[in-house]
Amino acid sequence: MVHEITHILQGEARHSAEGIMKARWTPDDLAAMGVKPLTFTAEDVDLIYQGMDYREAHAKADSKTPIPEHHRSRSGNNGEISMAHGIPL
Ligand SMILES: [Zn+2]
Repeated sequence: MVHEITHILQGEARHSAEGIMKARWTPDDLAAMGVKPLTFTAEDVDLIYQGMDYREAHAKADSKTPIPEHHRSRSGNNGEISMAHGIPL
């Protein structure tokens, strides 16, 4: 789950050689997960921040475009686009 959310935050389908963003976990990785969670590499963290910056800039550029009613949250967040929109995967 963390792996998939990180793909969304990073905005790309890349994988790391180690850690939570590894493409395929080995039996050793799965055993290690039972002891403590896998970690992010420094590159994983950088790409999460880059993806967030990209999304923020993209959201500002689109702010003049009216948001269709069905894309607006009903929870009163001033009509901001939900996280599922505008992700360049
Ligand atoms: Zn993946």
